[in-house]
Amino acid sequence: MTEFDPKRPSTTEVGAPRESDAHSLSLGPNGPLMLHDVALVQKLARFDRERIPERSPHAKGSGAFGEFEVTEDVSKYTKAKLFQPGTKTPMLARFSTVAGELGSPDTWRDVRGFSLKFYTQDGNFDVVGNNTPVFFVRDPMKFADFIHSQKRTPDSGLRDANMQWDFWTLSPESSHQVSYLMGDRGLPKTWRNMNGYSSHTYQWDNEDGERFWVKYHFITEQGMEYLTNDEAEQLAGSDGDYHRRDLFDSIKKGDFPSWSVEVQIMPYEDAKDYRFNPFDLTKVWSKKDYPRIKVGRFTLNQNPVNHFAQIEQAAFSPSNTVPGTGVSPDKMLLSRVFSYPDAQRNRIGTNYNQLPVNAPVVPMNSYDKEGQMEFNHSGDAPVYAPNSYGRAYQDTQGPVDNGWEADGELVRSAYTLHAEDDDFGQAHTLVRDVFDDAARERLVATVAGMMGDVEEPVLSRVFQYWKNIDQEVGECIEKAAKENRGDDVPGA
Ligand code: NDP
Repeated sequence: MTEFDPKRPSTTEVGAPRESDAHSLSLGPNGPLMLHDVALVQKLARFDRERIPERSPHAKGSGAFGEFEVTEDVSKYTKAKLFQPGTKTPMLARFSTVAGELGSPDTWRDVRGFSLKFYTQDGNFDVVGNNTPVFFVRDPMKFADFIHSQKRTPDSGLRDANMQWDFWTLSPESSHQVSYLMGDRGLPKTWRNMNGYSSHTYQWDNEDGERFWVKYHFITEQGMEYLTNDEAEQLAGSDGDYHRRDLFDSIKKGDFPSWSVEVQIMPYEDAKDYRFNPFDLTKVWSKKDYPRIKVGRFTLNQNPVNHFAQIEQAAFSPSNTVPGTGVSPDKMLLSRVFSYPDAQRNRIGTNYNQLPVNAPVVPMNSYDKEGQMEFNHSGDAPVYAPNSYGRAYQDTQGPVDNGWEADGELVRSAYTLHAEDDDFGQAHTLVRDVFDDAARERLVATVAGMMGDVEEPVLSRVFQYWKNIDQEVGECIEKAAKENRGDDVPGA
């Protein structure tokens, strides 16, 4: 934060005393205003530019700072400094909804973003996850269409269940995430009461050059709690900032939320034959196959002092990896590695990583230069590499520590299917084996309650989609939806 003295009389942006914060300069008390009233012109011009483009998706959110402490020893899996025993790393977390705009209510049913930035001694390391372990699509070519279908229609500018279900039912790979979303976890009571998941598969590599596939799980130590549909709807009307307020107030009163940091580790070679394609973002790795391993915990203990500077301008990206970590052949992840920094360049500006909230705690020496708002520059050092004038540069060749083998023709194709891969199997496990009877009844009521304005042919496809997930649940949804709509219910 720049030096700020609240007792100093107000100044212009370049430090000259302002004459007034209350009265504009006019020709006589009732006369026209003067264009050279710098104080007024600057104030209006700056006000006109206060908003930066909101994130599209994940616009509405908030966050806090904290600390991650490694309590266990996972050094046999990764050489990353932040995961070595006893290491403490300062961090930032941001939670959000996905589809709603900046002013939208926190308690609309939605997936919640769960983004973490660790300011490590090897540069920034980010995990940009959700409160769900899977996602709606597995190919990035569908991502923009998916988000469009969840936002607003082109004509009325309204959100529209018909559009949402049209996309989902034409994209059966969405069934697992949709089941999660329509279940209790689609309405977390607070951000403190939800888990986070990297969802994507990432990579770890250790000092001996061994590689592992890894999924991160952040398990709430406050316990999982949910809102009912009625509670969420009431809160959306009475306190649209309910989740933002809860996090801020809890930290303010010293009730610091914490999460256990755990990982699933898959030996590198297992990926070829695991019963599910481990890079398919619509699938989990069963914990029966790869149990969670504890790494440590993080605690959020410091509120932002300036929401805009520290949360709105915070920029997370899965491209922020550090030695000992890496990405994987998950196509969605690979596309986000490009898309996130690109979105931030557009939203915040080319030099967004120079802002204090995004800057690393270690010095940087990058040959990327200039662009709007550069202030952290390399002085008169050479601006090219290689150079003969002493500015360091890198040239490591050969296989990378965190890579993988690939070959084949260029194709546009689905992933290769593994033994148990299909679109509905894991959704069925969730709805039938994980949810109890009461949770299934709430799921049926939630989905049926959304069918009011859904038109044919989408409506029939919704019933079939749910029957593909679970025959009985699909039949219950059809019956309840038709009753709600006043349609004829066969056999009723
Ligand atoms: P497990 O029986 O080991 O895991 C079931 C998990 O389901 C629980 O550990 C819990 O995850 C999660 N869960 C419990 N209640 C709900 C709920 N109401 N809504 C959503 N999730 C809930 O079996 P598997 O690992 O073989 O997974 C079985 C199914 O569980 C999967 O198909 C998937 O849908 C779901 N699941 C699996 C996860 C994984 O990483 N393997 C993670 C989350 C869900 P948690 O402890 O993370 O809260």
